[in-house]
Amino acid sequence: MTQAAPATTSGTTTFPLKFSLTPSTAARTEIEREEILADPGFGKKFTDHMVAIDWTLDEGWHNARVMPYGPLQLDPASSVLHYGQEIFEGLKAYRHADGSIWTFRPEKNAERLQRSARRLALPELSEADFIESIRQIVAVDGDWVPSAPETSLYLRPFMIANESFLGVRAAHQVGYYVIASPAGAYFSDGVAPIKIWLSTEYSRAGRGGTGAAKCGGNYAASLLPQMQAYDNGCAQVLFLDGETSSRIDELGGMNVFFVHGTDTLVTPRLTGSILEGVTRDSILQLARDRGLTVEERDVTLGEWQDGVASGAITEVFACGTAAVVTPISQLKGPNLSIGDPDAPAGEITMALRQELTDIQYGRLPDRHGWLTRLDAPAGQA
Ligand SMILES: *Cc1c(COP(=O)(O)O)cnc(C)c1O
Repeated sequence: MTQAAPATTSGTTTFPLKFSLTPSTAARTEIEREEILADPGFGKKFTDHMVAIDWTLDEGWHNARVMPYGPLQLDPASSVLHYGQEIFEGLKAYRHADGSIWTFRPEKNAERLQRSARRLALPELSEADFIESIRQIVAVDGDWVPSAPETSLYLRPFMIANESFLGVRAAHQVGYYVIASPAGAYFSDGVAPIKIWLSTEYSRAGRGGTGAAKCGGNYAASLLPQMQAYDNGCAQVLFLDGETSSRIDELGGMNVFFVHGTDTLVTPRLTGSILEGVTRDSILQLARDRGLTVEERDVTLGEWQDGVASGAITEVFACGTAAVVTPISQLKGPNLSIGDPDAPAGEITMALRQELTDIQYGRLPDRHGWLTRLDAPAGQA
């Protein structure tokens, strides 16, 4: 890693940030922590500390710190509360069998946070500072990385506009934070296929919109269709493209894949309205490694319907950091049903899932150099 060289971000020359540490005086005891780690769920409990970095137009990024986890003080006029200028990331810290702590392709999350920042007119954080912010939270709260199978410490970096100003323009004051939340096994009783709901009324993104950015606004727009999915007995909502309502885009928070026969993997191409998942990219690589034919192209709803009917499409799955790979048994819609709700998880789906998690948890060699060790000084991985 090139850490020492100054980087240019938004016209400001920046050096790698130095983080100060204010230890929590209310940290949980080991017994309290172990109790939480025994059954953490997802996104409900948080570690004892958080990372914060300030940005202003005049000073750039500054005041990088690790501090006790706790409420933010926000002026009621803070721009994020009114105009939604916010972006986030999601990645995990994994504990390997020897106790060491690793994360998966964090440079991809750093790049994506920069792309999201550009789209939302927020300042870019350098890759070095992003990865250091992840190291810092794990350095102080590493004991919160659980060790049971398929568990992890979920890391949530995010950036908000916090200038007190009601005028409509990009904020001149911004905060970047990292919080961390222990996560249990997503599927505690074995991986179970899900049913998904086709939203025919709403899209999550349109041409020129923010679909390729990881921003809270996309999620806000997906909550009503997500509720409709629940009301129809489905776990997730599937969105079509906003222009023609014929092409498959993705789920509310996961990318989608189709297996054709036994040798071809198909996923919608990146159109600008699809979020470029790190899991998606990794699955494409693992599939190529296995000798599967990989296609990134348009997939229509009609192709899905016909493909399942004819037997050409043999497996469907969704993927993302939180649930890794989730088999899809059925797509339901207002006047539509594709697939069998009782179908078991597909073989290729499960093989890809196993291989990816084996790499993440250090059970297979890291042949693509995807892992970064977090509980050791930079450069010592
Ligand atoms: C985060 C996200 C994904 C998955 O991305 P990963 O990097 O694989 O976690 C997919 N779709 C949307 C809309 C997302 O926000």
